[in-house]
Amino acid sequence: MMALLVGTTLSYLLRKVKDLRCLTPKRHRVKEKWAATRAKHPPTSLALQHFDATYSVQLGQLWPSVRTALLSERKYGALLNHFSYDANLEDLQAQGCRDFITDTDTQAQLCSEQEPEVGFQEESNGVSVRKSDVVDQQLSPLHLSPNIKCLVFPRGNITRFKPARPDMCGFLGYYLMDAASVLPCLALDVQEGHNVLDLCAAPGGKTLALLQTQVIGFLCVNDASVSRTMRLRKVLHSYVPKQLLTNEKLRITSFDGTKWGEIERNTFDRVLVDVPCTTDRHSLIEDDNNIFSKSRTGERRRLPQLQLELLLAGITAACPGGEILYSTCTLSQNQNQSVVEQAIYLARENHGIQLQVVDLRPLTHMFRKTFHFAPDLHVGEMVIPHLAANFGPIYMCKLRRLT
Ligand code: SAM
Repeated sequence: MMALLVGTTLSYLLRKVKDLRCLTPKRHRVKEKWAATRAKHPPTSLALQHFDATYSVQLGQLWPSVRTALLSERKYGALLNHFSYDANLEDLQAQGCRDFITDTDTQAQLCSEQEPEVGFQEESNGVSVRKSDVVDQQLSPLHLSPNIKCLVFPRGNITRFKPARPDMCGFLGYYLMDAASVLPCLALDVQEGHNVLDLCAAPGGKTLALLQTQVIGFLCVNDASVSRTMRLRKVLHSYVPKQLLTNEKLRITSFDGTKWGEIERNTFDRVLVDVPCTTDRHSLIEDDNNIFSKSRTGERRRLPQLQLELLLAGITAACPGGEILYSTCTLSQNQNQSVVEQAIYLARENHGIQLQVVDLRPLTHMFRKTFHFAPDLHVGEMVIPHLAANFGPIYMCKLRRLT
């Protein structure tokens, strides 16, 4: 009797498992042999090994906490779309969000009006940058566009945003992005009628932030990847009215940005150079398309050279007096400060262009309630991930063309 009961239960369970297998589409079924063929060292582990080796030296005591944050769920910001008709601001505020751009540290505003200390010299990779270029200048007052709004949940609150809804015209109310990615757009400080180039623009988060200012005279949007440029077009069409995407106001191209200086020199008032990099956060969580996979080692090693060429192209595309904002989403000194220092040197030696590093401390002081910034970088500023404010990494450095 007992044996019969066990037999019946077993065959019932087997049938259930079979039914479940039928319900699961074939493409989602896990084959056991996959486990046997899975890479011994997945790219995410290789990335972590690489970061442990380099960032523990670069960041010292800060690395363990930055590492924990990088491996934890990131926070997003909702870049508000002024072209949408819905009351997204009120909705998000009712959920407990605040616009980090208007909710600044007023004490910090006072700091930004004070004089900085004077200079010293820094050297890296044999290229010297006069720190006096950075600190001799008066700190320029901040002109933050009143039209860029980015909402975030308070420190320590890890609530996720709901996906944005289309309004009656089909425009989405907000764009979810790392809130720290808005900082390079604020730092770029676009003004009425400016001619602006976004050299590596896809998928378009920063382009959207720049368009929110509603002051740009003409915007050139470029990305070397054709498929990513198509994604960028889709993003723009989901957020921006057609009349602002006409040929008189905006041009979208898919050129190799390193060649831009050969096409258009001394032209733009503002240039954003948001380069491809090791995308540290992505490299730690996603094995697909990971820059640390063995097959992409060469590409990864060539990144600093590509970044340097892109930054130099951006510098030559800017007009004298124009400003260039270099940004990445990596903590790597080789991809950040070293690239900037070499670009300053080569711009002077090869193109006769003198550059000044613009001090971004007023900006970091202002937003220190929202982001954690790396202390004591010799050029540029960097948002470092922190468990209570898990944004970044974002590195940015602003250069002004003197000649
Ligand atoms: N700015 C974008 C945003 O906010 O959404 C993100 C840009 S992503 C960090 C870097 C981009 O550089 C990629 O979309 C990549 O296709 C593009 N890229 C890579 N090599 C390039 C090149 N030689 N010229 C122009 N763009 C390039």
